[in-house]
Amino acid sequence: MAKTKELLKDTRNKIVDLHQAGKSESTLGKQLMRALKMKRGWVFKQDKDPNTPPRQQATKEWLLKKHFKVLEWPRQSPDLNPIENLSQGGSQQLSQTLAERVGWQSILLGSAVTNIWQDAEWARVTTAAAATFLCRAVIVSCPPHLATKIHYEPALPSQREFLTQNMPVGHMIKFIVTYQTAFWKDKGFSGEIVAGSSTECPFCVTFDATTPRGNAALVGFIAGQQASQWTTKEARERKHAVVSALVKYLGPEAASFIHYEDKDWAVEEFSGGCPTNVMAPGLLTYYQPSLRKPCGRIHWAGTETATQWCGYMSGAVQAGQRAAVEVLSELRPAVLTREELHTLRHSQSEETRAQQTPSSALKRLTTAVVVTAALTVAAALCLTHAERVMLKVTTFFSNAL
Ligand SMILES: Cc1cc2nc3c(=O)[nH]c(=O)nc-3n(C[C@H](O)[C@H](O)[C@H](O)COP(=O)(O)OP(=O)(O)OC[C@H]3O[C@@H](n4cnc5c(N)ncnc54)[C@H](O)[C@@H]3O)c2cc1C
Repeated sequence: MAKTKELLKDTRNKIVDLHQAGKSESTLGKQLMRALKMKRGWVFKQDKDPNTPPRQQATKEWLLKKHFKVLEWPRQSPDLNPIENLSQGGSQQLSQTLAERVGWQSILLGSAVTNIWQDAEWARVTTAAAATFLCRAVIVSCPPHLATKIHYEPALPSQREFLTQNMPVGHMIKFIVTYQTAFWKDKGFSGEIVAGSSTECPFCVTFDATTPRGNAALVGFIAGQQASQWTTKEARERKHAVVSALVKYLGPEAASFIHYEDKDWAVEEFSGGCPTNVMAPGLLTYYQPSLRKPCGRIHWAGTETATQWCGYMSGAVQAGQRAAVEVLSELRPAVLTREELHTLRHSQSEETRAQQTPSSALKRLTTAVVVTAALTVAAALCLTHAERVMLKVTTFFSNAL
């Protein structure tokens, strides 16, 4: 009892500290008080950032000393994932801006590619509406599980086929619930809920999705095993379960929402799942080189082929740029800068290195071990021999003297 009182007193002092430090940290202070009063094992999430101000570090140390759990979280700074941090207008503006630069007249929407044929000089792309396009190079940028649905003539190398057939996509149902006000903020909540798998709560995570104009919303995901259970249910059932869980975590105000909308990405023909593809065990070790390696006139892009931010929008842009440079280096190398050519050559040499299979690496290692052992034995023999020579020399001189 005395211990709890002492902790409460300490926490009040800390809150005064935090109030003086700034508004956001005073929210943390309020949460601390609530955690203590509710006697619940709360976990505090803190951005792990090399530029973390010393005050944040001190708060973390204080939390740990008082036996609160702290979850360190890699900070997603604009430098790391710039596209995710587009502040206004949403991520669709990325596609729209690109389309404007390319020219809408050069973009064909609603035309699924069904067939890609190629020979030594040309590639021919056929769509579901039987339109055909003859070109020098093709960049396939849809995710691997959708790329396998396209028919390739001649067939792709077996290593590429095996890779894409073993890269399943995840399953997520995304929902957005809109409100008159972001009532959770007034209560000192961030709107971020991380919930374990349970029959009471369908979602695993929610975030505050209030727009820059202040339209209050919560966004969340029903994922994995729960997605496979909730996908077969009616949308109104999901709505009821989601809102009930929000009421449980955030209070009765959560029931007075304006609108609920959800999207099951697995049932979308040209998504087939969400958010990204993963590799089956062993695939990265043995088949990874086929991920980016062009197959004749076909080049591969899409976020799954990115070396950074794989599975995110920034990864998709990086992959697109890399594939474009690949094609230009073959068709119009003159337009590339020295830096682009250098980056391309560097990544190609990295790929070649990665293509050395573990068995060839093992062979090289075995050879190195054998050679080292042989050299060691030879050196030892030489030393023994030299010792004998030295002994003879010493004996000769001592006899002579
Ligand atoms: C619900 C959800 C939330 C996400 N949240 C975030 C986030 O917060 N931050 C983030 O960075 N990323 C997020 N992502 C991931 C992000 O959307 C992807 O990483 C990104 O869109 C990948 O881009 P891409 O160009 O590689 O592939 P896609 O965006 O999947 O584009 C592939 C395109 O190919 C088309 N296509 C498929 N098959 C064919 C065919 N046969 N012929 C012609 N066209 C075809 C599809 O219609 C699609 O337009 C999220 C994804 C989802 C689904």
